[in-house]
Amino acid sequence: MIARIATEISLNKLFDYEVPPEMEASISVGSRVRVSFNNREVMGYVAELVSQPIEELDASPLLPGTPKYRQKLKPILKIVGKQSLITPKVKDLALWMATYYCCSIEVALRSLLPEAVRREREGWKKQLFVRYNVEAPEPKKLTQRQQEILAFIQKHGELPLVDLTEQLSCTADTVRRIERTGKISVAPLKVGRDPYANVQILPTKALTLNQEQAVCLKQITEAMDSSDLATRKPFLLFGVTGSGKTEIYLQAIAHALQKGQGAIVLVPEISLTPQTVERFKSRFAEEPLRAEVAVLHSHLSDGERHDEWHKIRRGDAKIVIGARSAIFAPVDPLGVIIVDEEHEHSYKQEESPRYNARDVAVVRAQMEETVVVLGSATPSMESYYNTSQGKYTLLRLSKRVDDIQMPQVAVVDMCSEIRVDRGIPLFSTRLKEAIRLQLEESRQVILFLNRRGYATQLQCPDCGYVAECTYCSVSMVYHRRAQLLKCHICGHHIQAPYHCPECRKSNIRHSGAGTERVEETLQKLFPQARIRRMDSDTLKKKEDYRNILNAFGAGKIDILLGTQIITKGLHFPRVTLVGILNADISLHRPDFRASERTFQLITQVAGRAGRGTDEGEVIVQTFTPSAPAILYAKHHDYESFYADEIVSRKELHYPPSSRLALLTIRSMDEEKLQLTAQHIREQLDGESFKSIRPLVINGPVPALLERSMGYYRYHILLRTVRMMPLSRKLFELFQSVKCPKGVSFTVDIDPLDLT
Ligand code: ADP
Ligand code: ZN
Repeated sequence: MIARIATEISLNKLFDYEVPPEMEASISVGSRVRVSFNNREVMGYVAELVSQPIEELDASPLLPGTPKYRQKLKPILKIVGKQSLITPKVKDLALWMATYYCCSIEVALRSLLPEAVRREREGWKKQLFVRYNVEAPEPKKLTQRQQEILAFIQKHGELPLVDLTEQLSCTADTVRRIERTGKISVAPLKVGRDPYANVQILPTKALTLNQEQAVCLKQITEAMDSSDLATRKPFLLFGVTGSGKTEIYLQAIAHALQKGQGAIVLVPEISLTPQTVERFKSRFAEEPLRAEVAVLHSHLSDGERHDEWHKIRRGDAKIVIGARSAIFAPVDPLGVIIVDEEHEHSYKQEESPRYNARDVAVVRAQMEETVVVLGSATPSMESYYNTSQGKYTLLRLSKRVDDIQMPQVAVVDMCSEIRVDRGIPLFSTRLKEAIRLQLEESRQVILFLNRRGYATQLQCPDCGYVAECTYCSVSMVYHRRAQLLKCHICGHHIQAPYHCPECRKSNIRHSGAGTERVEETLQKLFPQARIRRMDSDTLKKKEDYRNILNAFGAGKIDILLGTQIITKGLHFPRVTLVGILNADISLHRPDFRASERTFQLITQVAGRAGRGTDEGEVIVQTFTPSAPAILYAKHHDYESFYADEIVSRKELHYPPSSRLALLTIRSMDEEKLQLTAQHIREQLDGESFKSIRPLVINGPVPALLERSMGYYRYHILLRTVRMMPLSRKLFELFQSVKCPKGVSFTVDIDPLDLT
């Protein structure tokens, strides 16, 4: 028996090793092993097991050019751990992902397993762990080296001491010295930590479904029970906020449990709040449908993540709720996959492998012959298109459960607002009045502005100087409280200048108001109001988010002001007014999805208003009140928006009617970059790509974000109709192109970010 191994060392290849006869019974795909590699012992996982004689082994179809071996294979030294960490089904998913998203198998396998699980060695639990203490005060007087080590620990939250000393080549003594500051602790791993140990779970019972819900659930459970694959098409559950989608998810999961199967629930990271988790835990807290719910999200420490993962792998936790990467959880057998808020862009990973968890969910469901339900109040154009093509089944919930009306949406044309003191006012008269009214009646207000900082631009009116980032082609954002200019791309920051650095005059002006500026104005307009700003500048610790929301829920805040962080899944009955301060920010982005994003934004934000007994009101401020996204959102009319938008997508050959692949080439050396980009273009025009039809190639052209972190960037955009054949070709290209030193090249399939 021969094992093809992906090693921990990042190489774009699988390596073949002999499986000693005594290991044959205990090895399987996904087993972790130790092998000798270039005279070093390294960790690896088994990607494939094959039994043919060596000569007959063909190059793996996924890896063109894998050489046939000449010499005798080396044996596997050892199998680590009793159980393979990847189920064979999930392994197939990784192979699909590598091909489709053009990444190496090793990278794909890597994303299947959390680092904490991958790096696990024997005797893990007996080892010493270093843990970062968030609450402890910042230590003073650390050496540069100690600061580096501390930053590394902070990034990981918690990690084995040996990993730390190995990766940073430092000694345990150095770590112990940092421990004396109290900022970290070194201790054996605690077993079975439960991040929800302090949350009281009160069991809930299934609700009696209304007519519409019952119809939807019936279709889902019938598909789960059916052996006919045709009925198991992915479902798109399209229902306004508060229409009872979550109740359907819960009952579909209950159905899976009754059949002895498990479930995966994906939610966007940001809505993975304790409220959401509690709702799932509560429903499955009691017999006969008692089931443990594992939670996977990015704020878990390595130790916590490790425990959750093993709970799932052992089958102790049948239900997994988590963000993006939870789609790879080793739930087996899997009865249903739920993807809530399927339109959310956070399902897409913006680094390799650049997968979209929603789409991976659809493929996983297909591979495991199980049912997937994508839910949204504002489905993505892609998913809705798929229902019109008969690829997905549309399930519809047309009204809110309790017959509460959808809120009134008023659109204020900012062009007709009087221009006081030169600039454009932040608040229209209408919005100001509405806020005043709410405050008088002790109700709550949510205000939304998708721009943080004080001002997006600092300009000198005398010489025209604009503060731009040294490393990126964007202007720096003024943060008044910190008196800094910050680059929102790379984080570079400098002291905000009082005088123009070019002409030394002191007339410097700012424009483009952000949340910090709005907060200031708001406080002047409503001095009595208790205002809280919520954006990534004010959310420093992981508890901040929850604390602010708790305070808001308890009525200790009158006005909550924030960026998109506040648009998600929050449920506050006393919020009767939601204001969108500047809808044009998202509408005029240079992105073909700008209109769709704006429609989603207004609809989702509007969904926050009037969830209690009082009717809600939404006020949208814009300079383009007649834009379709705004008009249709005003009337809560998704279908008309879709019908309007799909026409232009088709005309311009954009998704969902075409498929996109985006190649990005970057380098600090612009000339080398241009040459490489041109070379890649020639390859794309060559023989090998002739079989892909249709294929439209644009570029190379400088990317919208021409420079980022000191790198120049070029784009080549490809359009086709079926992605997989193009993916295969791009993967070959990706492997064969030898970029000159200092030039790198990435492939993004189904990109969401085109900047
Ligand atoms: P969505 O997920 O579509 O936003 P939810 O499932 O959260 O909607 O439902 C909104 C509210 O209505 C929740 O408080 C939920 O408990 C309640 N609800 C859902 N379905 C029913 C039902 N059939 N009968 C009574 N209340 C329901
Ligand atoms: Zn920058």
